Amino acid sequence: MMKRDRLKKLASDERFISGIYNYCDRWCERCPQTSRCLNFAMSEEELSDPEARDIQNDAFWKTLSGVFEETLELLRESAKEWGIDLETLDSKGDLESMKAKDAAVKNHVLSRAAKRYSGWVEDWFKERETLFFEMAAAAREGVSLEEAVEVIRWYQYFICAKVMRALHGKSEEEEEGCDEFPSDSDGSAKIALIAIDRSIGAWAVIQHYLTDDDKEVIDFIAFLDSLRQAMEETFPKARSFIRPGFDEIDPSR
Ligand code: SF4
Repeated sequence: MMKRDRLKKLASDERFISGIYNYCDRWCERCPQTSRCLNFAMSEEELSDPEARDIQNDAFWKTLSGVFEETLELLRESAKEWGIDLETLDSKGDLESMKAKDAAVKNHVLSRAAKRYSGWVEDWFKERETLFFEMAAAAREGVSLEEAVEVIRWYQYFICAKVMRALHGKSEEEEEGCDEFPSDSDGSAKIALIAIDRSIGAWAVIQHYLTDDDKEVIDFIAFLDSLRQAMEETFPKARSFIRPGFDEIDPSR
């Protein structure tokens, strides 16, 4: 289990870009910034034991629970330093208001659309038994359909999660009367938009190599395009959000 001191030491290491993991796509295997990410370093360190990597293994959950406890302890220390008394927070009132916000976000048209997309993709893949043959045909032409499938699958649920996070952030920012830019909601909306863009590109690759006339793929592209436009209207500044480590030029390099 990672000791608190080790966690603190890692957190203060200057090679890490602050908050880089807040607006990334969590696809660490494909991330060009693993060496600058505290989140990645922590999971590598924690899960370096092969046993701990096994999700079925008790060690995995113990490790997670260890990180949780250490983090909670750090949170308490930080709250004390900032003069926040965690005990006096109105937990019942906060809980009610959190529940109400969660429900509003869940029912938002953008959340429902993104959720619908996730389920629709799942159904489509279940029905596409011929995709293997199409993959083989595309491979002969030097194009990886497999890659396109991987992209779609990676972002299939991610889009909904980030759309909801963006809406959540927006509702909190509005409640606090905060209209500063950059805001957390814009950052979340931006990564959702990037995921939508990449998914549209991947669907276009699939559409090009399909051996039958599957109109549904065009529907996916049209649906994602509408979602993209609606997101841009709801979060007009999202595209200009600079994601630390990804959209900015790193002066240390
Ligand atoms: S920034 Fe990169 S390494 Fe870090 S969590 Fe995101 S995808 Fe993974």
